[in-house]
Amino acid sequence: MTRTMRACVRLAVGGLLLLGAGWCPGCKKPPARQVESPSLENEKPTGPRPNIIIFSIDTLRPDHLGCYGYGRDTSPHIDAFAREGALFENAVSASSWTLPAHASLFTGVACSVHGCTNTDRRLHDKYYTLAERLRDAGYATVGFFSGPYLHPVFGLDQGFDQYIDCTSYAGLMKASAEKTGTVEGQKIWEAMDRDITNPRVLAAVRKWLAGNEHKPFFMFVHMWDVHFDFIPPPPFDKKFDPDYHGDITGERFFFNPKINKNMPRRDLEHIIALYDGEIAWTDMHFGKIIDDLRTRGLLDSSVVIVTADHGTAFFEHGLKGHRNTLFDELIRIPLIVRFPRRIPAGMRIVQQARTVDILPTVLDLADFMPPRLMGQSLAPLFAGRKTDRDDPAISELDTWGHHFESFRRLNRKIIWDLSVDRGVVFDLKHDPTEHVAVQNKRSPVVRACIRDLKFSRGLLKRFRERYPRSPKISDLPDKLFRKLESLGYVGGAEQSPASSAPSP
Ligand SMILES: [Zn+2]
Repeated sequence: MTRTMRACVRLAVGGLLLLGAGWCPGCKKPPARQVESPSLENEKPTGPRPNIIIFSIDTLRPDHLGCYGYGRDTSPHIDAFAREGALFENAVSASSWTLPAHASLFTGVACSVHGCTNTDRRLHDKYYTLAERLRDAGYATVGFFSGPYLHPVFGLDQGFDQYIDCTSYAGLMKASAEKTGTVEGQKIWEAMDRDITNPRVLAAVRKWLAGNEHKPFFMFVHMWDVHFDFIPPPPFDKKFDPDYHGDITGERFFFNPKINKNMPRRDLEHIIALYDGEIAWTDMHFGKIIDDLRTRGLLDSSVVIVTADHGTAFFEHGLKGHRNTLFDELIRIPLIVRFPRRIPAGMRIVQQARTVDILPTVLDLADFMPPRLMGQSLAPLFAGRKTDRDDPAISELDTWGHHFESFRRLNRKIIWDLSVDRGVVFDLKHDPTEHVAVQNKRSPVVRACIRDLKFSRGLLKRFRERYPRSPKISDLPDKLFRKLESLGYVGGAEQSPASSAPSP
């Protein structure tokens, strides 16, 4: 093997991709279309491998957390957690809804690259997910999901030894998957909106931890209840608006026509108070899991991350919910990392962070070589150093007739509507709520945004050429579903530890 070829192998094993050329310049031919060699290059660990624990709190807006400056006491446990680690003040999601955002979290690439952008798609098996990387490195891997768009039919279970369904409607999802090949539709939406999952998640996590303390593990915990409907159990239902006597409730938030942009301000305030109640309800359960980790002596030896997949809108730009635009109320997310071995307590980091940065950051903190995907390791920031790149945050939406992409930096942002091939630019320094589009096409902020757009589209193009796009579920062989069933995934509520969870 020549020196050049050896260098190529090292690049492939370590996951390094030469973005500009797409292959090693010393090779005569580009490599076959593939994602990465399924192995990790281990650097010498400086100590025992840490456990990796990622909390993804669905629909959680950072500006509704105390540690991000919110006035209400929604998040005492997350706030305490943040005081012990590093908080990213400007974190941005890859999308504004659950499925593509989580696919980017697990793969480290943008949504239009992995292509798992709608419920008719299944993440391509060739992606070397975070769970697969850690499983191959000897970790026990477990995922807990509590919403429909993380169902294994979408392929997000890749690499998890156990992938535990914490919803109450697993049977409904099974029926949907059998009939339509996917998990989507009115019955699923109504079930997911009504579901209260935090106690099931807590019980399932506790049960798993009780038998798996001794091997390094990767645990992914998806917490759903902040997502609408906004129906927190007592006392959280009255915690932030006890004096409301109107007739608006948080039920059927998305489908209730009375909840519209012209609704009385007082009623909208009540809806937001219920959303805040859901955050407090979820924060309490998050705190109990953290307490459990601390009691077992696992907390300080683990990399623990709190983040979200997207935010939600309360008519800031005329719409409610999410999965419909890429304004900041939908794509800004919390990101907090706690790991005392490497991260000083109380850090606040201004540099923009992105969903796709989480995978390389996690591997870096666990002393593995971080792969060079679309994100970058944020670990140098914890040591007071700079990261090697400062690319724009790319967010994308391609669902329900919405086709948007946005390219965001700290002080500027361009949102492009691909349906009409037209964009708007916002000067976030002077217009942080994105209400006054910059009109002067020759202004420096517009020019800079166009540069961001061109750079990012070039990056996306190179990755799309190299990485496989997730197939349509309908194009997959029937055996896929039978495989899921044989693994015990489908109908998981009857089989998972979550089924025995106590009610609130
Ligand atoms: Zn979500």
